[in-house]
Amino acid sequence: MQQQPIILVFYQNLRFHDQPLLLEVLQHTQPIIPIFINDPKVIERLGEASQWWLYQSIRAFKQQWKSAYNIELILRTGDSVRVLQQLLQETNANKIYLGKRYTKLEREIDERIYEELNRDGITIKFFNTHLLFEPANIKNQQGNSFQIFTPFWKTCLTKTIEADLPAPDHIFNGYNQPINSDDLSDWKWGHSQAAWTRKLANHWHLSELAALNKLAIFLKNSLAGYNNNRDLIASPSFSSQLSPYLRWGQISAKKIFNEVIHTMERDPTIQQDGNTFLKEIGWREFSYYLLYHHPSMQEVPLNKRFQDFPYENNLSLLEKWQKGTTGFPIIDAGMRQLWLEGWMPNRLRMIVASFLIKDLLINWQFGQAWFIDTLVDADPANNANSWQWVAGCGTDASPYFRIFNPITQGKKFDSEGKYIRKYVPELKDLPTKYIHQPWEMPITLQEEYNVIIGKDYPHPIVDHTIQKNKALDCWKEFKGKG
Ligand code: FAD
Repeated sequence: MQQQPIILVFYQNLRFHDQPLLLEVLQHTQPIIPIFINDPKVIERLGEASQWWLYQSIRAFKQQWKSAYNIELILRTGDSVRVLQQLLQETNANKIYLGKRYTKLEREIDERIYEELNRDGITIKFFNTHLLFEPANIKNQQGNSFQIFTPFWKTCLTKTIEADLPAPDHIFNGYNQPINSDDLSDWKWGHSQAAWTRKLANHWHLSELAALNKLAIFLKNSLAGYNNNRDLIASPSFSSQLSPYLRWGQISAKKIFNEVIHTMERDPTIQQDGNTFLKEIGWREFSYYLLYHHPSMQEVPLNKRFQDFPYENNLSLLEKWQKGTTGFPIIDAGMRQLWLEGWMPNRLRMIVASFLIKDLLINWQFGQAWFIDTLVDADPANNANSWQWVAGCGTDASPYFRIFNPITQGKKFDSEGKYIRKYVPELKDLPTKYIHQPWEMPITLQEEYNVIIGKDYPHPIVDHTIQKNKALDCWKEFKGKG
């Protein structure tokens, strides 16, 4: 008779490298059953772009299991606890290994898995597959949690970051009895009804190998210079674009961290670039740290006072922002890139977020929700923390009165308008002088370039100077009430 199997649950750790679940399996000789659970409570919370990414990734991961180890990745639908309970009964498995998760809902589910299934003869083990450090283990000298990034990250850097594990060069035993598995094509997630997600396939290759290749190319070509170039949105490879792969665990943070350190050791001239890049990985850690300590971070401002901020929430302006028809070219370019590719550079995310919250006086949660739906890297921790940062209501946030000017930001980071020309094609032939303020073009030039403002491209939906002063007045009044 075959030994009792071990169940391996995969969710946002869709890879073989740096995979502590597989390392643990090597301590035993038992056969394994890898599974992905389509738990409607979890999947319904994902936006359409994330569902698209995850769906394609599961397909790739299933093929990877088959070709590397000739083992089926089992797919099942239902409440996670019930699915695992059923599988334990069917297979007589005696161990379940899972990657840790950090949102409120996922933590509740994982606690139920532990409470209901960890009993005599069954071992449930959770592994850190997602972060460099367990948030519970990082404390300040008084033993409290950090609220500010810099001391948090300094403390992290005093700790040892373990070596990342290579993909096991080993033959795993599959479970040798037939097990039912859903057919992936029967999973009708929201993205399958949404026509817009189909175009995302033009921009992304989804697999662990694609993620590792992206990292290698970034380290070779773009890490040197990252410190200066990461905001130059018109250049083709200013940042790594690893965010969706990190979100879904096709690459591990430890792998990235260690590879960057090795690259820095080989080339001492890139210390500053390397450290700046590692600091961004540090911001990801910090976002998860905050989410762990403030599980409602996606729903409420960390600075509770901001619950009463007098936003106007004009839904017609929100729609213009979402569609990239605000009449501010840099904002429209960013929002249209998001709709086309499911991604946007960090600089653009800051500019469009500031515009929504301060120029349009719309609550950051509307922006967060739109990003959740449209970003392929929509990340519960990074997204919530970043929106709160721009809104000035996070623990370590940009002050509210810091308001980005969409025109000067455009001129600074896309000086010739290359980025704008790419994503707002109706403006592509405009002289550089007018690319950031097309409404200033004399009518004769508008006719010459076939861009009549108000007809071919919108008038600006607000006056930035007026709105800036209004936002500052709101802020002063709000502060005065505190
Ligand atoms: P790189 O510059 O190559 O950085 C490497 C990695 O570091 C990123 O992949 C990411 O995991 C991490 N990182 C970089 N910048 C940040 C940051 N400011 N905060 C936290 N982690 C960071 N990032 C997401 O991953 N998911 C989101 O949903 C998300 N929403 C955001 C919303 C707003 C309003 C803003 C201002 C930022 C948001 N970010 C989010 C952070 C950042 O913009 C992206 O991580 C980054 O643009 C991804 O591109 P990259 O992989 O090329 O980054």
